[in-house]
Amino acid sequence: MGSTGMTRIAFIGLGNMGGGMAANQARAQHQVSAFDLSAAALDKAVAAGCRAAGSAAEAVKDAQVVITMLPAGPHVRSVYGEQVLVHAPKSALLIDCSTIDVDSARAVAVQARAAGFRFADAPVSGGIMAAEAGTLAFMVGCDDADFAAVQAALEPMARVTIHAGEPGAGQAAKICNNMLLGVSMLGTCEAFALAEKLGLAAERFFAIASQSSGQCWSVNTYCPVPGVGPATPADRHYEGGFATAMMLKDLKLAQDAAAKAGASTPMGAQAEALYALFDANGFGGKDFSAVLQMLRGRLGELN
Ligand code: NAD
Repeated sequence: MGSTGMTRIAFIGLGNMGGGMAANQARAQHQVSAFDLSAAALDKAVAAGCRAAGSAAEAVKDAQVVITMLPAGPHVRSVYGEQVLVHAPKSALLIDCSTIDVDSARAVAVQARAAGFRFADAPVSGGIMAAEAGTLAFMVGCDDADFAAVQAALEPMARVTIHAGEPGAGQAAKICNNMLLGVSMLGTCEAFALAEKLGLAAERFFAIASQSSGQCWSVNTYCPVPGVGPATPADRHYEGGFATAMMLKDLKLAQDAAAKAGASTPMGAQAEALYALFDANGFGGKDFSAVLQMLRGRLGELN
């Protein structure tokens, strides 16, 4: 599997992310049987070297590996429950790369195991560009015995693949990481907004914070202030990058999981509220670092 020869892969969900990911599997000389409800998405995958299947059932029928990249939990539950688990050979390795709620991931894993399949949840970090470049980071929840096979199957799409633990642990890792990112970005934006009010030049504050105890990815690598630090979406009018709507989705998943697990996550709750407000102002398509402009009271400049 993976780099050791041709594998028959079924790929379901060929949207912004799945399109590039399926193309990388085809480029790695695997035989990719692709399906999406959208004919346009399917056509793109065919142009990238995949074969079109008429349904999810047809795509998986003699697959060695099934990969799904769907919008949310309900889609994953229905595609596995009604198609994959019914029509794929039991020997197929099932990998869901969508970002979904932990409960759905665990429920599908239990169902898959009961039906005799190996299943992994493997959500990704990295956006559309990383999907196209084959440089995604995968966080994997699966049985120890299955990890090597999962890693090999993901290899053409991956920069790094990390085993987080049992099924469901990949989704848990993803939402904990993104909750931390949402909180750290808001903290970074607040600090730059306060520095500005105090008459401190943004580039001087960047030089100091990025080398002091305030350093973090949101400051050092993804600074929300245009013209400061390495090039980021802030330098492209906050276009591209990681959309606010996506961050909001992940923060909602984190709050949902926290409520169910009885965890206290007040900063995550605050981050969700602030990103929901920013999204409600019409900026769901802007990079999540653009929330700086709301904290500066300069939302108008984003239009
Ligand atoms: P998208 O909406 O562009 O693609 C999803 C695709 O799934 C669509 O083409 C849709 O037609 C298809 N689909 C839905 N139901 C289906 C079904 N029953 N059968 C077959 N196809 C079906 O979404 P995306 O941006 O590619 O994101 C996919 C997942 O990856 C989401 O869970 C998202 O949270 C996650 N993610 C996205 C990004 C990003 O930057 N876009 C980054 C990391 C993770």
